[in-house]
Amino acid sequence: MTESIYKRFFRLVYPFWPILLLSGVASIIYVVFNSLSVWLTASLINNILSDFPKIIAEQSAWETATDLSVNEQLKYFTNKIVLRADPVQSLKVLCIVILLVFLLKNIFLYIKNILTSRVQLSLVTDIRNRLYEHIHSLSMRYFDSKSTGELSSIIINDVGVMQSALTTTFQKLIVEPINILVFMTILFVISWKLTLIALIIVPVTGILFISIGRSMRRKSRRTQKKIARIMDIITETISSMRIIKTFFTKDREIHNFKNESIKYFHLLFRRAKLGKLGSPVTEMLGVIIGVILLWIGGVEVIVNQTLTPEDFIRFILILFSVLAPIKQLTGVNIQIQKSLASAERVFNVIDTTPHIVEVKNPIEISSFNKEIVFDNVSFHYDTNNEKVLGNISFRISKGEIVALVGPSGAGKSTIADLIPRFYDVKEGFISIDEQDIRNLKIQSLRNLLGIVSQEVILFNDSVKNNIKYGLSKIDGDQIVTAAEMANARDFIEKMPLGFDTVIGERGVKLSGGQKQRIAIARAILRNPPILILDEATSSLDTESEKLVQEAIENLMKDRTVIVIAHRLSTVVNADKIVVLKEGRIVEMGTHDELLQQNGQYKKLYDVQFKDTRKSNIVSF
Ligand code: ATP
Repeated sequence: MTESIYKRFFRLVYPFWPILLLSGVASIIYVVFNSLSVWLTASLINNILSDFPKIIAEQSAWETATDLSVNEQLKYFTNKIVLRADPVQSLKVLCIVILLVFLLKNIFLYIKNILTSRVQLSLVTDIRNRLYEHIHSLSMRYFDSKSTGELSSIIINDVGVMQSALTTTFQKLIVEPINILVFMTILFVISWKLTLIALIIVPVTGILFISIGRSMRRKSRRTQKKIARIMDIITETISSMRIIKTFFTKDREIHNFKNESIKYFHLLFRRAKLGKLGSPVTEMLGVIIGVILLWIGGVEVIVNQTLTPEDFIRFILILFSVLAPIKQLTGVNIQIQKSLASAERVFNVIDTTPHIVEVKNPIEISSFNKEIVFDNVSFHYDTNNEKVLGNISFRISKGEIVALVGPSGAGKSTIADLIPRFYDVKEGFISIDEQDIRNLKIQSLRNLLGIVSQEVILFNDSVKNNIKYGLSKIDGDQIVTAAEMANARDFIEKMPLGFDTVIGERGVKLSGGQKQRIAIARAILRNPPILILDEATSSLDTESEKLVQEAIENLMKDRTVIVIAHRLSTVVNADKIVVLKEGRIVEMGTHDELLQQNGQYKKLYDVQFKDTRKSNIVSF
């Protein structure tokens, strides 16, 4: 997984190579000026502390010498630029040069940072968009096993972690290795012996940070899982506020939340303790080695005189300068490990293949002419291997009303969900006009269907947009006509902005009956030849009930209807009643035929209808 994650990152980053190349060039220029700034600072100190005539004498000696070391050549060139006839003049030039060098160094640092930010932000936006788009391609089966909170957490939190990690990673991973390389080269040029001693720090910090990094990733996995759980609790409880208030379970919910929150805090704190260890440990290791070098180098200068004071000052300055990029790099590793845990979660979603896919050359179906056939259909949900439907066979001819009845859990909704391919059958097939629905273009199949379910989903948008949801090229008159047929026009026009009134999330500003009528208007406007209707089980008040019933009758007119029936009138008027029990068809026929058979339907009818005659709702 890890290797493939690195590879995937590479593949994601690859398209941005021109910007990264520019950023790399800016980084190199920055590093050159950065080294130059340290180098010149050493010259400045040397200029002030040393005997000026001695510097002049040395410079003229180098002018004619032929066997200069690299270090001496570099010093010669520096002096050539800054050295003037008197010390104050030289100091002035040196100060101006240092100022210029720092200015250029910072300009290129800024250019590099802007370029890398561009790449990093584009990359994260791209990942987030791809993730969101991919989620839309996944089938209902996926959403049965993943909660809203967890998915939101992956899109927001995990992508967020990747974003902050990418920021530091890009900013530092490009520049710091070059920085270290250049600094180390200069150290070698000044004194290879002292540099070798300094190099001890590399394997020691390396080992330390690899082990910290591993533990970091494990801890990050746990923290990301935990924040997903917290998001889950938040989304679940906010959407269930009504029931929490009714049952007065707020204290229990708060207790649960605090519990998870504290666990999250401990995980975060444990991770922080580990993460924050990196910086002081590298610094201490660096300082220990620095002090050893100070001692050894100092002895070389004072006692053995094998090192000039200027070289020694420069060596120490550069040595301490190299510690910063090393520290930065170790921090980058910690960030990378954190983000890898999140990247795993993000890529896991992106890698989930949609279960409901189209065949290679799907058939486009534009009309419904003959019949829908269920042929020996069996089905079970993936979360549970138990068969929910077994050997279901029946036909729905064009223009028929087919009612599905049966006790709760019999499989009525599952049958309704198989037609739009929210799930695919496990055995047998469903066909529309002799075409297996799996061979049809999914969009063309769903265009034939209108689905009105008990739970009305309304978006936080205007009434108009809710009615025409998913349709383009619809004019205002068509919306008004649909609303009229759905018995919704009157109440909509009484709202403050009429059809432009924004209804709240989940349509909270509307009554149950009004919501249902908006959903019916939506279905009328779509004008599908086939209607899948899940009748509401809860009874509305008589007036509202009548309005909804009329709207449903208008909607059913001239359509083929599969209805999960709870109303006696629907069942009585159906052309065919399919009676289900424990996922099997036990009886089939018209109301009169089934009553005559005196079987399961008669039993259901007798037991359930007697008590509910008044409301006309039968809890089949
Ligand atoms: P009701 O009238 O109560 O809505 P129903 O007849 O429509 O019931 P279904 O909702 O189709 O019955 O459920 C049939 C069986 O499938 C039940 O045992 C139910 O627990 C199970 N089931 C339904 N949806 C899922 C799901 N998403 N994942 C797993 N099992 C499910």
